Amino acid sequence: MEEGAAHRAQKDLRFIVIGAGMAGILCAIKLKEAGYRNVAIFEKADRVGGTWRENTYPGLTCDVPSHSYTYSFAPNPDWTRHFPGGPEIYAYFEGVAQKYGVTEQIQFNEEIVSCVYGDGLWTVETKSGIVDQAEYVLAATGVLHHPAMPDIPGIDSFEGAIFHSARWDHTVPLDGKRIAVVGSGSTGVQIVSGLAERAGRLQHFQRSPQWIIAAENTPYTEEERASFRANPGNLHLDEGFIARTRIFSKAVSDANSAEIEDLEARVLANLETSVTDPVLREKLRPTYRAACKRIIMSPDYYEKIQMPAAELVTAKIERIEAKGIRTTDGQLHEQDVIALATGFKADMFLRPMNVVGRGGVQLNDLWAKRPSAYLAVSLPDFPNLFLLNGPTGPVGNFSLIDIAEQQLKYIFKLIDATEAGDYREISVTREAMADYDKRRIERAKGTIFASGCKSWYLDAEGVPTIWPWTFDEFRERMAAPDFQCYEMIA
Ligand code: NAP
Repeated sequence: MEEGAAHRAQKDLRFIVIGAGMAGILCAIKLKEAGYRNVAIFEKADRVGGTWRENTYPGLTCDVPSHSYTYSFAPNPDWTRHFPGGPEIYAYFEGVAQKYGVTEQIQFNEEIVSCVYGDGLWTVETKSGIVDQAEYVLAATGVLHHPAMPDIPGIDSFEGAIFHSARWDHTVPLDGKRIAVVGSGSTGVQIVSGLAERAGRLQHFQRSPQWIIAAENTPYTEEERASFRANPGNLHLDEGFIARTRIFSKAVSDANSAEIEDLEARVLANLETSVTDPVLREKLRPTYRAACKRIIMSPDYYEKIQMPAAELVTAKIERIEAKGIRTTDGQLHEQDVIALATGFKADMFLRPMNVVGRGGVQLNDLWAKRPSAYLAVSLPDFPNLFLLNGPTGPVGNFSLIDIAEQQLKYIFKLIDATEAGDYREISVTREAMADYDKRRIERAKGTIFASGCKSWYLDAEGVPTIWPWTFDEFRERMAAPDFQCYEMIA
């Protein structure tokens, strides 16, 4: 333990962790490892798992390779395949939480509704009325957790089953049914793959086509797993993924890079060689550049959408009626089930929680224009509140676990310095925040995300809200805080 951490542990500082998904479990484990015993973890649901608890749709996988989508300290030699399925990933997080004694620390079914700072302490209150106080708050509230319901007229008039992809109703029969999937992001594409062989007729309603990289989802053999078990040390260091991450990160941070051209050639070749019907191929061909929207990794979407029971519908949806979906060409597409893979409200982060910082500053006001946090972790006037996977961090095709681990190490360095200096609070200065935002926005305009498509990466003004530099630059910034950008107050 570093000097600052030892000092802090002695003071019996209290920490509140908000959320028990991937990042909340990480915080709990690392706080314990650092010697803190005075930790409260609040989770709004009745189980751990965050996104892997909420998303249970058929076809759910993670398109980050399994050994890279793993905590660095908890390798899992038993992953069954390269891109594991949702239930297997959920079981991994639940298992890690159990193994590290996190589960029993969590207060489940306790949604924090307010979080207010004053006199060196954060006071949080849950919906059920629990009030708690702590010197530090770690917000591990996730990125995409508020479903965006589409604004389609008549949506309530449908007589069959209709639900958002993150609220899948498993009581609804699917085999042999007429099913519509609305939306062609990573989720919609995975659902189509999951249902093409089960539905009686599967219609995929695509508003915008997507670029897709072919990604084989090979199972690991028993021999491979035995060898992983024998040597688990470096399992998470999937060199291929790290190399791809670098190329991808270089590509997205510079819309005119050679790497983007390479990506474009790859997704184009995938489309040209995988789709035989020229009419379907044109319907599936995006008119924007590769990686402008999050690149979709799929081993089999093109194959599945060409199956006899599957159909791509590109006519615009006009309304939903009792029997199905009416498109603007006048056709009624009758359905038993409509799955809305229409994405999430990406600008929520901690909200709708009422977060109030120093001097009564409201988070809602600070984020009125767009959510942002200095290096995605700290906010001016919100001392001792740190975000994991907060706004402006690297998202896209990276491993959010690796990102959260780097952020937490960085946050611990901030806390260490605060405690070692016997300060009461630390937060990014307003000047550093403003400078970061200015540079980030300027840079973001030159990224591939701003090259002429609509996506959840863009804020209300069309500016990409995510990390616009390379992944290596993120790693460098996380390696050591620049304390000139922070104010520490005794
Ligand atoms: P998304 O990428 O935001 O896609 C939403 C889709 O719904 C888009 O195709 C959108 O069309 C369409 N849509 C929205 N409103 C519509 C309407 N009114 N009518 C017709 N279509 C409509 O959402 P997502 O697919 O859930 O993915 C969100 C993010 O979750 C991903 O980018 C990724 O970060 C994460 N994710 C990751 C994985 C993984 O394997 N790692 C898997 C799933 C999701 P337009 O494109 O025209 O707007």
